[in-house]
Amino acid sequence: MTEPARDSRAERAADSRRPPGASRGPWGHAVVIGAGFTGLLTARVLAGRFDRVTVLERDDLPSGAAHRSGLPQARHPHGMLARGARIVEDLFPGVRAELAAQGAPVFDFGAGFATRLPYGWAPRRPVGIEAQSFDLADLEAVLRARVRALRGVRVRDGFVVEGLRLSADRRRAVGVTGHRRADPGHTPVRIEADLIVDAAGRRSRLPGWLAAAGLPVPRRLKVPSPLVYSSRMYELTGDQAPDWLVAFEMTLPPSVDRGGAAVTVDGTRRLISLVAPAEELPPPRDDEALLRFAATLRSPHFAEVMARGRPVSPVYRSVVGGNNWLRYDRLRPRPDRLLVAGDAFCAFNPVYGQGLTVAALQARLLARLLATAGGPGGLAHRFRRRAARIALVPWLTATAADGGWSTEPASRPARMMRGLLDVVLRRLPDEPELYARFARVQNMVASPAVLLRPLLARPGRPGRRTERAARTAPDPRSGNGSDRCARHRRRRRTRRPAREQ
Ligand SMILES: Cc1cc2nc3c(=O)[nH]c(=O)nc-3n(C[C@H](O)[C@H](O)[C@H](O)COP(=O)(O)OP(=O)(O)OC[C@H]3O[C@@H](n4cnc5c(N)ncnc54)[C@H](O)[C@@H]3O)c2cc1C
Repeated sequence: MTEPARDSRAERAADSRRPPGASRGPWGHAVVIGAGFTGLLTARVLAGRFDRVTVLERDDLPSGAAHRSGLPQARHPHGMLARGARIVEDLFPGVRAELAAQGAPVFDFGAGFATRLPYGWAPRRPVGIEAQSFDLADLEAVLRARVRALRGVRVRDGFVVEGLRLSADRRRAVGVTGHRRADPGHTPVRIEADLIVDAAGRRSRLPGWLAAAGLPVPRRLKVPSPLVYSSRMYELTGDQAPDWLVAFEMTLPPSVDRGGAAVTVDGTRRLISLVAPAEELPPPRDDEALLRFAATLRSPHFAEVMARGRPVSPVYRSVVGGNNWLRYDRLRPRPDRLLVAGDAFCAFNPVYGQGLTVAALQARLLARLLATAGGPGGLAHRFRRRAARIALVPWLTATAADGGWSTEPASRPARMMRGLLDVVLRRLPDEPELYARFARVQNMVASPAVLLRPLLARPGRPGRRTERAARTAPDPRSGNGSDRCARHRRRRRTRRPAREQ
């Protein structure tokens, strides 16, 4: 069965809904694979440019907020960096208020976060960065409803994409193949397209489809992390509410190898995650062991909520697998009219909270390229190059820290980045002004260069508390003491090293 790119009935319908003054242009039909965060933002920027945009999603999508198998990460806490949140608000004006009306709090990042850093507590005072905590399933539901209402956009759920179609000379992607999940015979359906965006996340099958077509596959950069998440939702009554909206305990391998995150998703619910290498995290059904584990963390906040709150979900456990970057930007030869975005392009260790923001930056990049392009031809090449530039600093930041899990000698840039990170982290607890700058860098609203001036002003002079922290860290109460370090070194000797594939 073939579904043409230019279905005249659908085109006529799209024409009738096109905003006044918007030209039909030479654009035709765009297909987006995946209706996750990246797919939804991508559909938003393609709408209005292309005559039709079809988002293909293998899951059956609920009309409201609900969990689904294609979005397992929504069982775990998510925070969006300020840069990403601003882009989402630009693309979907009023989203922040809509989530706030459902209970998702808006607050100052410095005041609302209780952050336990490797060498002490982050200063708790306003830093002028607006933040919001939410449940990813709620955010996705709000965005999905907005995308479904866009002119010319169809979100087609229950449809599994299983292949890529190329022109005879293999220089251009011309469509996808797939099947409806509800169809017991899996009758193949072909969908023609003038542009295809793979937003299928970490489980994207595009490398396999390229290989099947006899094309080269992108090189995979991989920096592993052994961290596993165990998460559960708790309900607290009003008088039990803690004085923080987000609690975070940062890992810094090899010495600090366990941590946690907790976000307020509405007036009463906190979603809590304990994070550690798989062999250290108790099994999901062992409530007492999980509570004992939480009590070993340096931040008391996780154990407090777990002890006082009422669990309202099972414990969900996820192995994330570290950082993966598929270098589509370096692929030669590479088909035109095929873009890859979000986790399908570059996925980061989630403890650094960068994935949503990098996807949002890529959506904004696509919007900018579309604004000046005369048609879909050539767009993919320009996008890949610049999308790689967007991923670079977040990649270096995440992998500099995660290099601590590896026994391999780190590259020079990674060593420099790690050294700088360590100097900054040691000083943050004592220096609120430096922390305010760090928070801006962390939220991607300022360049890392803003840290240089305060660092150069006091080269290598640790503060009093920092000296104390350096003497005492890692904190023995956390179990991150020398016995744990020795255990970790033993584990590292047996762990596969970081490598490029
Ligand atoms: C435990 C955890 C915690 C995280 N915490 C944070 C955080 O705090 N902050 C942050 O910024 N990021 C965080 N992340 C990362 C963030 O979740 C991802 O970067 C983001 O959700 C990626 O979105 P995506 O749309 O690219 O991919 P996905 O969300 O994976 O969406 C891909 C979609 O494609 C669909 N699909 C896949 N294959 C097909 C196919 N063949 N046919 C049709 N449909 C298909 C899937 O069903 C899915 O709906 C976290 C990740 C994890 C795992």
